[in-house]
Amino acid sequence: MPVWSPGFYGIGNYSRNVSNFRAEDGARHALPWEKVTKDTWRVAAGNASTIVLNYDVYGATSFAANTYLGDDRAYISPSGMFVYIPEMTHHPVTVAIQLPSNWKQISTGLEPISGKSNTFYASDFDVLYDSPILMGNQEYLHFDVKGVPHYVAIENVSAKVDRQKMIADLQKMVTAATQLIGAVPYKHYTFLLMGRGNGGIEHLNSASIQFDGNSLDTPEGYLHWLGYVSHEYFHNFNVKRIRPIALGPFNYDMENLTNMLWVSEGLTVYYENLVLVRAGLMTRDQYLDDMKRSIASFENSPGHHYQSATESSWNTWNAGSGVGGDRNTTISYYQNGAMLGAMLDLKIRAGSMNRRSLDDVMRALYNKYYLQRQRGFTDAEFRQECEAAAGGDLSEVFSYASTSTDVDYAKYFALAGLKLETTSEDASGAYLGINTHFQEAPRNAIPSGPPFAGRSGSPEMILVITSVTPGSPAETAGLKEGDQILEVEGVKATPKAINDLLTPSQPSGRGGTAASQPATPPNSVMKSPGNKIKIQISRNNTTTGVDVELGKNVKRTFTFEPVANPTPLQAAVLKDWLRAVQ
Ligand SMILES: [Zn+2]
Repeated sequence: MPVWSPGFYGIGNYSRNVSNFRAEDGARHALPWEKVTKDTWRVAAGNASTIVLNYDVYGATSFAANTYLGDDRAYISPSGMFVYIPEMTHHPVTVAIQLPSNWKQISTGLEPISGKSNTFYASDFDVLYDSPILMGNQEYLHFDVKGVPHYVAIENVSAKVDRQKMIADLQKMVTAATQLIGAVPYKHYTFLLMGRGNGGIEHLNSASIQFDGNSLDTPEGYLHWLGYVSHEYFHNFNVKRIRPIALGPFNYDMENLTNMLWVSEGLTVYYENLVLVRAGLMTRDQYLDDMKRSIASFENSPGHHYQSATESSWNTWNAGSGVGGDRNTTISYYQNGAMLGAMLDLKIRAGSMNRRSLDDVMRALYNKYYLQRQRGFTDAEFRQECEAAAGGDLSEVFSYASTSTDVDYAKYFALAGLKLETTSEDASGAYLGINTHFQEAPRNAIPSGPPFAGRSGSPEMILVITSVTPGSPAETAGLKEGDQILEVEGVKATPKAINDLLTPSQPSGRGGTAASQPATPPNSVMKSPGNKIKIQISRNNTTTGVDVELGKNVKRTFTFEPVANPTPLQAAVLKDWLRAVQ
């Protein structure tokens, strides 16, 4: 049984929900079996040509990556329900479902088998694991795009929401997205609009989307929801088909690590609103409002001083799908990836004299890697496609993706004739002014000793300054890029140790329970502006102590203004970038 579910980058260990396991041959004679790993069963089949497995799956958590059974509905997250035979995952699969008599609806991206009720087909186990199944008494709506049917299973949308308008808007959104890529790559698509929980997960030709059904009652709530559905839908291109090489074919037994979730998730966030603009469902001002709030949220969270988008991607399997546990020391590749997407797009548009855009990169990746080579792309291939479209070097954007360097947003938005203004106000905590990278010590830095001494555990981690903000307390005290921080206030230097000095604790960014948490008390070690801290650094193999007088922390706010006299290129880039095409 898989340990994780495609689209949700965390280990779920679903086999823990399995009980009452039995194996039989075709004549219902019991076959001996044993459990050989935590998620592997070995059946002694002898001469049996058929093996029947019976097992119960416990499903009490209503979440898009978990199987759930309630009084009025059930949801199968297939990787936590169906076992596979390792050498037979390319075999076709049939799924037959027996519904309780008072349930009428099964919604899934799986192919129905004609002539057999409630029976479905998957061409292989990858398709099976990518096709959740929702059962109960959902509303069931439908629209076509280019003759391809799109089904909408609704569990909990508020009765006040106009169904006809909702379906028309989803149709516009799908039309804009499919025009952008130039393909409708499936035979049918199903939106599973589920209630009672948070989180959405994209699949090959379906998406499981959970939300508060009453949140659609206001125009803002409705637009936000459309963006969320647009996100999960756009994933059918970006990540399901346009994908980094690590993300398929999957290994279901372990983590599938990649640096590129800032592309797969972040660029999907970038496109979720852009698709709505193209579809005429979001205005240019609404788009830019969302962008500036996103930049402010990212810049005002201390984590961006310590973690890059590529690191956040790689570490997500430990931290939990893109929303790190600690906003002080980690970032969200969703948020950062969306801004990197905007910078790539604007640079490509300006660099190509407004002849190409990030859309061309997405189309090239779709055609070249998904259709022709039938594989994912490497990190280098993604960059090549971006630079080919821009007609030049994009090293600055890619270094923003892989480091915690301060980002010059204004330079990029100026390419579209937009002036990004920043205002600052005092905020709690204290200010130091460094960005760092927490990295493995180089081999020659590991102290000598008996062979392999100290190597048995995790590698030694060191904290290195990657940039010092001009005019900051750190610069005044003489700290420099490349310095290794050994200790702060007598404690081993880690991102957390520094942040405990500078920043009030923040509630975890995960889950939807923030409202029920008590206010977090301030850290006992937290310093104030004007306090001095002792930092021990190593520079050129010499250890030095540095005293830094901390400054005031600021909270930044961003606004966009069109420049007074845009050049023809700036005007053309802005017009085409945020233009409704429908
Ligand atoms: Zn996503």
